[in-house]
This record gives sequence, structure tokens and C-alpha cells, in this order.
Amino acid sequence: MAVLWLDEISAGDIERVGGKGASLGELTGAGLPVPPGFVVTAGTYRSFIEEAEIDEELFEAVDVDADDSSALANAADRAQELIIETPFPDDLREEIVASYREIGGDEEAFVAVRSSATAEDLPDASFAGQQETFLNITEDALLDRVRECWASLFTQRAIYYRQEQGFDHSSVNIAVVVQQMVDAEKSGVMFTSHPSTGDPTMIIEAAWGLGEAVVSGAVSPDNYVVSRSDRSIDVTVAEKKVMHIKDEETGETVERPVSDERQTERVVSDGEIEALVDLGERVEDHYDTPQDVEWAIVDGDIYMLQSRPITTIDDGARSEAATPVEDAVATTEGVTDGSGTQTAGAGSDAAGTPSDDTGEVIIDGLGSSPGTVSGPAKIVTKLDDLAKVAEGDIIVTEMTMPDMVPAMKRASGIITDEGGMTSHAAIVSRELGVPAVVGTTNATTVLQDGQVVTIDGDKGTVLEGETVEPDEEAEPVEEVRPKSPVKPMTATEVKVNVSIPEAAERAAATGADGVGLLRTEHMILSLNQTPEKFIEENGTDEYTKQLVQGIRSVADEFYPRPVRVRTLDAPTDEFRQLEGGEDEPVEHNPMLGYRGIRRSLDRTDVFAHELEAFRRLYEMGYDNVEIMLPLVNDAEDVYQATKCMREAGIDPDKRKWGVMIETPASALAVEELAEAGIDFASFGTNDLTQYTLAVDRNNEHVADRFDELHPAVLRLIGDVIATCREHDVDTSICGQAGSKPEMVQYLVNEGISSISANIDAVRDVQHEVKRVEQKLLLESVR
Ligand code: PEP
Ligand code: MG
Repeated sequence: MAVLWLDEISAGDIERVGGKGASLGELTGAGLPVPPGFVVTAGTYRSFIEEAEIDEELFEAVDVDADDSSALANAADRAQELIIETPFPDDLREEIVASYREIGGDEEAFVAVRSSATAEDLPDASFAGQQETFLNITEDALLDRVRECWASLFTQRAIYYRQEQGFDHSSVNIAVVVQQMVDAEKSGVMFTSHPSTGDPTMIIEAAWGLGEAVVSGAVSPDNYVVSRSDRSIDVTVAEKKVMHIKDEETGETVERPVSDERQTERVVSDGEIEALVDLGERVEDHYDTPQDVEWAIVDGDIYMLQSRPITTIDDGARSEAATPVEDAVATTEGVTDGSGTQTAGAGSDAAGTPSDDTGEVIIDGLGSSPGTVSGPAKIVTKLDDLAKVAEGDIIVTEMTMPDMVPAMKRASGIITDEGGMTSHAAIVSRELGVPAVVGTTNATTVLQDGQVVTIDGDKGTVLEGETVEPDEEAEPVEEVRPKSPVKPMTATEVKVNVSIPEAAERAAATGADGVGLLRTEHMILSLNQTPEKFIEENGTDEYTKQLVQGIRSVADEFYPRPVRVRTLDAPTDEFRQLEGGEDEPVEHNPMLGYRGIRRSLDRTDVFAHELEAFRRLYEMGYDNVEIMLPLVNDAEDVYQATKCMREAGIDPDKRKWGVMIETPASALAVEELAEAGIDFASFGTNDLTQYTLAVDRNNEHVADRFDELHPAVLRLIGDVIATCREHDVDTSICGQAGSKPEMVQYLVNEGISSISANIDAVRDVQHEVKRVEQKLLLESVR
């Protein structure tokens, strides 16, 4: 038998039918309302390649050096071609088609065709490719789609991932689920118990149309919190601007606007909630563990499309008092408790709770990364000093640099003489989750090597002695990494900033809607050579490869969420410290100098290799990568940059790209920028503030004048948002100010499309955005 019907399958059949197939079979067997369907088994894939005798050629084709991007691209092309071009044997074709016809009976059925991963040993099947889904398929396309699911085992990403993880390509199989489509009028997800505490509270999210709009995050769904004890319902109605439906003519799934009146209409009635909760209880009882369920409603009938165990419930939390859903803090390194004290995590080994004897403040500066931690100070004046920084030490230095990142990861805290909230030390320590105080002016001279101090990264103070004791009694904080993090659902997207690829996993775990700014300069600076020097010594291909590698690690972590990658933007004073830096121009004021798009357009030869990295990523299937140009002043900059993109083989009409609004000139010229074709404009308020107010962002002497909320800055921002809305250009913020509640309020009120915040601020920003959006909604109906 090449196929198995869902009612012939149970949970133990994963090897034959994959995880998805087994789960659907189990639910069908339990009498739950699952749309009918069958699974083309993993064994069928295996006999297809073996009987056609393409198996050996296939596995040989993909045995390549995964770091060689062109070899990888060729391998993927060859492997996929082998599968797609091999005809089905007659008996197999007939069996699949006959089963398909049984689903529809007298009518032509529309089915979903999905790959179902059997590789349980792969920690995340999404990396391994096996997540192809085709919707609304009819007989003509069915067999091709099944083969495409099989071929999805051999995308560049999948091959790369298996090579990196040391998995044998020939040991991985794949099954394909073919299931009747439910032409949903409304759909969504349901957590049968509270996803972080395990409390008997069901969370239902619902939107109009097909479910992928909710699952993919294309729409902010309504949120219903139902108490399972008394069935009381707390309803939050969202503004659902779009829905996914089947296009009657083409049969394809398309996104359509929701009519004005239905945008703010409640999606599910009390009666439907009752029915959903009943179903949720049945599923949870069946599996004896809380479930995350995808459901759909059509003609008043409820269908269950998928059910998975909730993996985010902390066992210790099950017995504790209920916490609001949105308060589920999810990080992989360290969790900040209400007082801002780091309680655990790789970035803060010496952390604990404050003891009673509060030390005297010896120096102060800017609290640039939150948390309180004690440890011995290690003064670092030259790179050799880094070797003495051990786990739990506090680095004290003039200013951190890219080659200090490994030591910064070991350290429990960071103190610098120089720098502001947007300096290297501030940005990197926030991403690492290490408390930091920057811009103290004198830490390296006041503090003694080995002296035990306490950093308060919220207040920006450094205290004498150990005022935070390692907390023996505190429960170790478990790694909590929700697969489906429940977060406040907002119409305005909330993204996250990433500067060092090592922080990608932690950033993705926040549940952010994507990366609003990926700074590439940290990838280059960490090579310790200027781009020109690196190219001279290692060749252009190696330079491109380094970029591909860095960007890819973040794009993988977030896929399919978008990752906005900024082209190189390092001022010459940062390059000067690297090998080859002696060739950098001497500038009196590097911040006003040769950086960002100016440098790229001056050295188009170097820029071309950077763009080549993007081209390779697109070729590898990273369609979630977007290009962002820094320090643009006007449309001319954009015309020149798009010319370079075309020359590098990137079609700007097919890719998403945009600019940073960092200079008053770019803010004033945004109409021309929109006409030049940008898809988005993102406020770099760190620079926009310094250039508008003439306040050097790294100069602690004027730090008190650095005010991103200055009326002049806000006016520029507000005008840009208004113009962009007229021209259908997305707006975003990726400067540090996007993490501030006052700025969030202003931006949401002005109608910004997305906000990108620091890792540690994502949750707060999500809440703030939600609060402002609710207020706006209320005001509009009052
Ligand atoms: C900005 O200027 O706000 C920005 C995000 O870019 P950077 O801090 O890297 O200059
Ligand atoms: Mg900037």
C-alpha cells in the first residue's frame, strides 16, 4: 500500500507517516472532527527513488561542502531535478489518484498537500526543509505537488542543515499528507491550557478566512481567554485588515482586504467558543497533556486541522498562581525578574538577589543593559588583557570593540568609560543579556583590578562590594523557548534588532515578528581586518562567504519571518582599529564622514561583493531577507544603489528593500525616495537624533542633550510616516528609541507599520503597542 488513510493511522506510526500524518491519524481515530485524507507513506518515497534507481545519484549529488555556496546551489538543483523529473510508476500514480477521487466523491476535491517529517532526530524540522505546503490542489497538480514535497528534502537550506548537523542524507525519509481543504469562514489556533503556566485557561485566537493568515502572522487575530472552571470569557477584538481565502477562479490562496465593518467585528460567538472549548478538552484528555490546536469553522461545523503538545509549560509553574498570558517571558539566556535583577542565564553566572548591605555608589554612567550583578572588576586596556577575563568577571574598559565579544560573553557585567546608549558596548551587552553601565568617564582609572563591585544596569550605577549574592535557593530558570509563543497580538508588527549573529537564537525566542535591523558591520569587524584588507588577503569570494554565513544564521533562525539586513555601515574610526586600518582616511568627525551608503557608492567594487552575498542568499531560497541602505540622503543615493543591485544580479522590483531615515535630508526627501521605489523607510533614530540636534551620540559630555523625543525629531518622523502612508511605503523604527514606551506611543498613534526593539525590550514593546492600539480602537468607536 502506497497510501494509508487517516483512520488507519495512530500516533505510533510516525516512521511511516511522519509527525503530521500520525497526529492527524490519532485525532481521526479518537473521533475528533478531522477533514478526511490519506498519507503517501515515507516507504513510498523510498521505493520511488530506489525503484527508479536515482537513490545513489541523489545522495552523491548532495554530498558537498555546505560552505561552498555555488556547490550547494548546484547540489540542490540537481537533487530536486532528479526527483521532479522522474515519472511515477503507473501503479503508484493510479493508487494516489484513486485515493484522491475518493475524498471528493462526485465532486472535484480541493486538497492540501503537505510534507510530513519523519526525522524525529532533527531538533527542528523547519530547518530541514520538510515543511512544504500546497493548498487548494486538484487532480491535475496533485502528483507534481507530491513530488515537490519529496524534493523539499533537498533544498539548499535542508542540505546545508543536515551537513552542518552531521546527519546522513540517505537516512532521512519524508511522507506526504493529502487532506481535504476546509474552505474556512473563520479559523485560528487554540491553546487548551495556559501556554506558560499550564493553568486551566484556554486561549483562542481567531480571524476571518483560512488559518494561515493567523499562523503566518499576516493578521492580528481576536483573542479569547476562557476560564475552564466557569467558562467566563475575556474578549479582545483585533483589527483584522486582511484575510486569506481561496480564489474561486484560480483555486489559489490569496490575501484579500476585510470589509470595513468586519475588521473590528468579533469573529467567534459565545456558542462557537463553547464548542471549541469542548473540543479542546476532548483533545487534551485524549493526549493527557495540553495541546496547541489549529481549527477552522465552515457552515457552523468545527474542524480540527492539527494538534501538537504545548512545549512551553514550565513544570514548576503549573502549581503556581496564574500569570497573565502575555507575561510569559521567553528567553534562552537569563530571565529578568520584576526588579530587573538577573536571576540566571548564561550571560550572568554571578547573578543573584540583592543582599541587605547596599554598597556605596562609586561611579555612575548610563544604564545601558538592564540587570544587577556583582563580580571582580577586570581592567582591560589592551587586547592581551582579555585573557584574564574569566566567567563571572566584570569587564572595565574604555570602550568595547568587536574582538572583545567572546570575552563579553564570559563576563557577568560590562563597564566603560566612553559611549552612549547606542555604542558598541551598549548594543552588544543588551543582545548578550549582560548588565552594563557605559559612559562613566573614569571607570578604568577609579576601579582597581580585582576589586569586587556591583553593577546596576538599570540605574547606571557601580557600587562598592558585592551587593548581589549568588542565590543558592533560587530555582534555576529553565530554558523556555516557546515554539508558538503567545504574545500580545498587535496590528503594528513588533520586531527585534540583532547585531551579532550569536544573539539570533535568543532574539528569535522573543516571538518577535522578524528582525527590523541586522547590522552586518559586526560580522565584518569581527574578521579583524578592513573589508579591503580582508579581500586583499583572502579574496572576494571568501568575503562574500563570511557575509552569507553570518546573515544566513540569522535568516535561518527567523525563517519565514523577515530579516531586514543593513548593508555595511561602520565609521572609519572603527575600521581604523583593524588590520588595514592605517589606510582609512583621517577624519575629524567620522560620524559626519565616510560611512554607510557613501562609502558603498564610493567603493562599488567592495559593495558588489556584499550584494553578491544577498544574491546568493536569494538563490538559496532565503526569501525572508530584505536589504536596507544606511545613511541615505536623497533619491540619487537610491538610484545609484539600485543600479549596483541590478549589476549584482538582484532585481529591486522583485526583492524587498528600503532605506534608513537617519539624516534630516532623507526625512525631508522621503517623497522622492518613495517615488524611487523603496518598499520601506526605517527610522535610525540614533543617527537622526544626532544629526538633527547636532549632538554626537558617542560623546558622554553631551549625552544629556541626546533626546530622541525632541519635538524636532518627532516632527520629522511624523511627517515621514504621513508621506509614506500616502505612498504605500512601510515605515519602521530600528533606532534605540523604538524600545522606549513614549516613542512607541507616539509612533503607533502616527500609524507606523512596525517597531523594532532591543531583545530585552520586545515583550514590553508588544504590550505597549497593544495598549495604544486598544486605546485607538476604543476612541474610534466611542
Ligand atoms: C540608528 O542610527 O538609529 C541605527 C539604528 O543605526 P546605528 O545605530 O547602527 O547607526
Ligand atoms: Mg545609524
